[in-house]
Amino acid sequence: MSDSFVLLWGATSLSEQESAELFSLLTSSERARAASLGQVLSQRYLSGRYLARKLGGDILGEDWTSVIPIARCGECGMDHGAIILEDTDVHISLSSSGEKLVAAGISGRRIGVDIERGYIDDTREVAGRAGTHTVTLGSWCEYEAIVKAMGVGNAVSIDELDPTVVTSQYTVHNATQHERHVLALAVSR
Ligand SMILES: [Zn+2]
Repeated sequence: MSDSFVLLWGATSLSEQESAELFSLLTSSERARAASLGQVLSQRYLSGRYLARKLGGDILGEDWTSVIPIARCGECGMDHGAIILEDTDVHISLSSSGEKLVAAGISGRRIGVDIERGYIDDTREVAGRAGTHTVTLGSWCEYEAIVKAMGVGNAVSIDELDPTVVTSQYTVHNATQHERHVLALAVSR
């Protein structure tokens, strides 16, 4: 088990060549998920699966075409959400904002990554359990990364996260600026 995660940036759409390479590799559940989505979301989904394979190949030291990402959404049961690579303990998280996509992966731990287009000190209004809060984009990005690592998504709002619990169970890599995007990452201990 390694402490270090691997991160890969990509785009929310694929070139014709990349699409062609990916198409023959898709599993039946990936095809079903892609077919259930409209054009833009489908492109983004397939770009995520492409990037997850590339990242998985890097982590496992294998050819990317042999990597099979799988997921099962807790809500709809389809093949999306937090990813595990088949027959491994490699966990992969994806995030996109604007035209950028990012994949983060690690062996033996759960991981959550989030990117947001904008600047770290930008503010936004977000809904919490106890009303609306004004938070920086950096804080929001960290919150998203944590709930993705926890596997709870937005079912746990930003004012329900217990900082003591979070820091005892997760390593949070605080938000950093990457050109026009903010990125944060959380990894289970
Ligand atoms: Zn779902």
